[in-house]
Amino acid sequence: MTAAAIVSRVFPYVINIEPIILKVGNRYVCLKCDQQLARSQVEHHIRRKHKELVNELVSHITASVRTQVR
Ligand SMILES: [Zn+2]
Repeated sequence: MTAAAIVSRVFPYVINIEPIILKVGNRYVCLKCDQQLARSQVEHHIRRKHKELVNELVSHITASVRTQVR
């Protein structure tokens, strides 16, 4: 499995685990850079602007998934 495939698979978990995005009414605010986002922009924004954070969380989640499988 490629890294990109892993990212797209675990992305929903990343958002749940790490409070990166705060929902305010109908708007979403990125807590890392205070940018307001539409719902459709959220995933794209995090992937583009906070790639290191995603990578870090993905490797963390991947490790815990592997532990559960065993
Ligand atoms: Zn941001």
